[in-house]
Order: sequence, then structure tokens, then C-alpha cells
Amino acid sequence: MHEFQCGSPVCDTRFSAASKEELMDEVIRHVQEDHHIPQPTKPIVDFLEANTIREVPSSPTAG
Ligand SMILES: [Zn+2]
Repeated sequence: MHEFQCGSPVCDTRFSAASKEELMDEVIRHVQEDHHIPQPTKPIVDFLEANTIREVPSSPTAG
């Protein structure tokens, strides 16, 4: 799965999703609503994807 941790120093939002695509949808919604960027441009999205997303191994024993 993939985990997002917001890079903003004034924001400690984090969440995770099964796929990067799902997570990026959530990330875009987050920057739109919480960071007042109504139309994140591709460079912004690319920056977020490169800097705030990390892949975490799913643990088959959990749950
Ligand atoms: Zn944030």
C-alpha cells in the first residue's frame, strides 16, 4: 500500500490507500480543501507524488 504524509510544516495530515492512484486522488482533494489550491497543476501533483508518497509493505499478518 501507499502512504501520504503532507510535506507542509503547518499540516501533519497523513493517510494511506491500497494503490498510488487512489492515494493521489485523496492527496489532490487534500491540497484543494486544506491548502486552497483549487486546480493543482501537473508540476504540483508530480512534486507531491515524488515527495509525500511512500510505498509501505502491507503486512499479511495484520488484521
Ligand atoms: Zn496538508
